[in-house]
Amino acid sequence: MNNFTYYNPVRIVFGRGSIAQLQQLVPTNPKILLVYGGGSIKHNGVYEQVQAALNDHDVIEFAGIEPNPLYETCIKAADLVKQEGVGFLLAVGGGSVMDATKFIAAAAAYTGADPWDMVLKKAPVTDALPLGCVVTLPATGSETNINAVISRASTAEKIPFKSPLLYPQFSILDPDTTFSLPQRQLANGIVDTFVHVCEQYLTYDVHAHLQDRQAEAILLTLIQEAPKLFGPDDDYDVRANLMWCATQALNHNLACGVPMDWSTHAIGHELTAACGIDHARALAIVMPALLDHQRVPKADKLLKFAHRIWGITCTDTNAAIDTALQCTRKFFQDLGMPTRLSDAHIPSTVIAKIANRLGQRCPHIGEHQNLDTKAIRAILEATI
Ligand code: NAP
Ligand code: FE
Repeated sequence: MNNFTYYNPVRIVFGRGSIAQLQQLVPTNPKILLVYGGGSIKHNGVYEQVQAALNDHDVIEFAGIEPNPLYETCIKAADLVKQEGVGFLLAVGGGSVMDATKFIAAAAAYTGADPWDMVLKKAPVTDALPLGCVVTLPATGSETNINAVISRASTAEKIPFKSPLLYPQFSILDPDTTFSLPQRQLANGIVDTFVHVCEQYLTYDVHAHLQDRQAEAILLTLIQEAPKLFGPDDDYDVRANLMWCATQALNHNLACGVPMDWSTHAIGHELTAACGIDHARALAIVMPALLDHQRVPKADKLLKFAHRIWGITCTDTNAAIDTALQCTRKFFQDLGMPTRLSDAHIPSTVIAKIANRLGQRCPHIGEHQNLDTKAIRAILEATI
């Protein structure tokens, strides 16, 4: 097992009716900025619950954070924070709203020339406003991690950034908020969670047995619970299990002492930036092809994945990996996901552009730093 430091200060408040606890969790003195998206919270009762809990607080609002949140929108919110003397940010929504709120928190406190430098040039985040989250879409784990992914419309870029200053102070997770999600967004959340786990699990074996079992527990729970959605067995507990899986998948816990491979996310972000495809749908296309391409360096962990997740007992390594990848694709397809570019009506002409862009910005990705422009191109060509 590799050396590691583990630190996660986020208070999680989980369960039915928990939004009411905002009253105690949100500080009373500073002005609060309530950040939300396109209005789903106004149709499912979440907005009313937030308003009721904060009726003693001084709250202003910033609505209209889009999926794959834009730098251009976040900058308007950061200007509002500065103009109004806001002292605390409350994100209410999915990963896009939470990520945007993290960028707003850092941008409003940034003293350099251009806040985009924190994203593109990895300029250090030196300060950030405190923030809290109410999660309405189980997917990203943004509610307990230090990451955010921000897009820029003017340059068609989508790039992650992170800082320990961006841990939320608290996150509220009420599984009841997920009942208004359309099937597509629930499926997106399950696949994003599945891929987060795989990118920390499917690398090379460092004998981190507990972390492997924790990763497997999340994958098996997703596989068990996902088919229940919208059927007779769909209930609060199904939603609660899926919600907790998403949080546990990316709260830095599985990352302890193991190598990581975030190349499916890196390629997926480029696909979204180029074609506007949903984050998780991009991942569903890329990951099986990437694992296939990397089957030799990942062989030990892919075999473990085949045996422990998909129950494959065949002793031939290549045959076991082939079957595990087929099972993974089938799991994604049963959720309505595309697993090829053509399923998502994406022309293969984007491949060269994506590979060149990512290869230039990040010339060596993957746990062995062995994926360059040529390899990214080969992976994407296998998804046609
Ligand atoms: P999202 O983009 O936040 O939301 C997708 C859609 O779902 C929006 O239209 C939203 O509508 C709607 N929605 C949210 N909650 C709803 C509810 N309870 N009922 C009905 N509709 C609801 O989706 P996401 O998958 O959570 O986030 C994706 C973003 O997170 C991507 O940009 C991705 O790159 C990023 N990401 C971040 C991390 C991280 O660690 N920070 C990890 C993976 C991915 P409204 O806008 O109207 O609310
Ligand atoms: Fe993700």
